[in-house]
Amino acid sequence: MITADQLLVKQINKSIVLNTIRKKGNISRAEIASITGLNKSTVSFLVDELINEGFVKEEGPGESRGGRKPIILNINEKAGCIIGIDLDVNYILIVLTDLMANVIWEKKMDIEIGESQQTIIERLIELIDEAISNAPETVKGILGIGIGVPGIVDYKKGIILLAPNLKWENVPLKQIIEDRFKIKVKIDNEANVGAIGEKWFGEGSKYNNFVYVSAGIGVGTGIIINGELYRGTMGLAGEMGHMTIDIHDHQCRCGNTGCWENYASEKALFEYIENQLINDAKDGYINKENFDSLTTLKVIDYAQRGSLIAKKALKEVGKNLGVGVVNIINTFNPELVIIGNTLSLAKELILDEILKEVETKSLVYRYSKTKITTSKLELQAGAIGAVSLVISELFAYPDI
Ligand SMILES: [Zn+2]
Repeated sequence: MITADQLLVKQINKSIVLNTIRKKGNISRAEIASITGLNKSTVSFLVDELINEGFVKEEGPGESRGGRKPIILNINEKAGCIIGIDLDVNYILIVLTDLMANVIWEKKMDIEIGESQQTIIERLIELIDEAISNAPETVKGILGIGIGVPGIVDYKKGIILLAPNLKWENVPLKQIIEDRFKIKVKIDNEANVGAIGEKWFGEGSKYNNFVYVSAGIGVGTGIIINGELYRGTMGLAGEMGHMTIDIHDHQCRCGNTGCWENYASEKALFEYIENQLINDAKDGYINKENFDSLTTLKVIDYAQRGSLIAKKALKEVGKNLGVGVVNIINTFNPELVIIGNTLSLAKELILDEILKEVETKSLVYRYSKTKITTSKLELQAGAIGAVSLVISELFAYPDI
């Protein structure tokens, strides 16, 4: 008779074996045993199960160190597919990936700001349909759908509690998508999703303590402590975009005053440019006539081509991002801060300003140099993060 405890131990060991194969790659059963400290027969038994289930594949014999050549193991990335969705305020980005988050197919669809909830959900369903029709034949099929959303999420129930920039309240998105497709759905806040993506497949993969700053229309953070996402009591942690950096300033949508995101987001970027134009600033790139059609990507492009207004605006937002990063470093003493989402595409233009702020103002940084960088996953960070949401659960509980 197998007890519940024994089943749990087996589950944990299986997850350890699977993740060791994923992290190391090209590894033998004996090497897994020596790295994990599990005995060889346990490793062999669990590896055989994982091979039978399709998650792991044998790659033929490797180099011998005397004696029989060991058989090399790898994750069978083609065992199944995952769908990842970055539902943003003004676009939906969907990716279809294999088990190692390699993108097989992707599509970006712009949505108009203010589009109705029903229309956006219809678009979402169309895109998922399209992703499924582009999925290759695999043993396991589509293993899950991950969705990152710009708002506060009850991640256990998959309910969007509040997405202010979309004007959504209490939307049971997990249930809507699961009822339609009969595929398991995971939903989380986009900054949490971005942080998990960086931890699994991006800049954060070698770090256990880092903070991901999602700098887009708003600002959010995903906090990784001891290798795990810090969620707080209800899963609502990380709303650092709403920390006060100016107690005297005007009210934010959230009810607080002087919130960080009002100075360090795309909204702030456009406000700054608009003020420059009101004061009759001019350059060969940005003017009152083309202001309405400006996007952050265009601003970055103009800055790189020599637009003074664009450069000044990005530097200003970069400096303001730095003010919040000082607080983050003083609070968490992290190994790494990753700047992600659209503003991160300005790279050095904002990074240099952030660093200047941190070097001059952070107490903790004086004694412990935090690495500050932009996201390696760039605009895919949200969608790959959503994929990681599914993969992280799959690799933690391969039996379920
Ligand atoms: Zn606020």
